[in-house]
Amino acid sequence: MVKERTSKMYNKITLLGNAQDAGRPQFGCTDNCCEDARKDRSLARMPVSLGLHGNDFGIVEATRCIGDQLAMVGNPDISDIWLTHAHLGHIEGLGQFGRESINLKNVRFHCSDSVLNYVKNHSIWQKLFDRGNLSSAAFASDAVIPIEVPHRARDFDTHALFFRGTSNNLLFLPDHDTWGATLSSLGHDNPKAWFQSLDADIVLLDGTFWDDNELKNRVQTNVPHPPVSQSLELLGNRQDGDPRIVFVHLNHTNPLHYPDSAQYQQVSEMGWEVGTDGMEFPL
Ligand SMILES: [Zn+2]
Ligand SMILES: [Zn+2]
Ligand SMILES: [Zn+2]
Repeated sequence: MVKERTSKMYNKITLLGNAQDAGRPQFGCTDNCCEDARKDRSLARMPVSLGLHGNDFGIVEATRCIGDQLAMVGNPDISDIWLTHAHLGHIEGLGQFGRESINLKNVRFHCSDSVLNYVKNHSIWQKLFDRGNLSSAAFASDAVIPIEVPHRARDFDTHALFFRGTSNNLLFLPDHDTWGATLSSLGHDNPKAWFQSLDADIVLLDGTFWDDNELKNRVQTNVPHPPVSQSLELLGNRQDGDPRIVFVHLNHTNPLHYPDSAQYQQVSEMGWEVGTDGMEFPL
């Protein structure tokens, strides 16, 4: 893949949050995962989002923590928003672009047609378009390439985003249902073959759950994500030439929130990484 610079190209990405949509601590959870984060705010995590640094500043996903997330990178003016899909945790910060808050004008809004329709069909967000806070813009460009992936949604589709840079290419895949469905829809046998075909240097990968047991005691049904334990089986140990793989979008229950857990150690020993808020990736 040719890595050429265009004016829309970004030169650095900051991970502005590495938790699943509802963050950590999570409303109503009184288990240690969230009690720990209530007692020690340094353990709190914001929903996944990316800061895109270039000639302009862009953001991927608009979470309810968008204010704190922008403060992490010095409160830049936002010229572009990208969305992977429209599950609530990925879009609930959109209201912050309106009159009640910063009232920015003509922020370019990049998403698929079905996500755009879904957002505009809700009058709470339709106003942002009517008042010129947001204006829809092309989803794909030379520098940002959407890749459709299967992810439970009745009303809209879901995309991974692939960012092409001058020194690194980065794939952002925070949500998908199963490796089987994703790989078969893309025509690859295993994740590494897909990453290699993209010439990805860095992959920010769906790490929502560690394993299936994590959900057994919970009232959480219908939330398919490939567990990290399965991703590790498919990936094996990191070999020469493999991209960096960084697990993001961690559910509050995921033991990867604890660097001293056996699960975290296993990820590290295999050569892979767990995302932290503020991590930077040069492109
Ligand atoms: Zn999500
Ligand atoms: Zn919890
Ligand atoms: Zn989702």
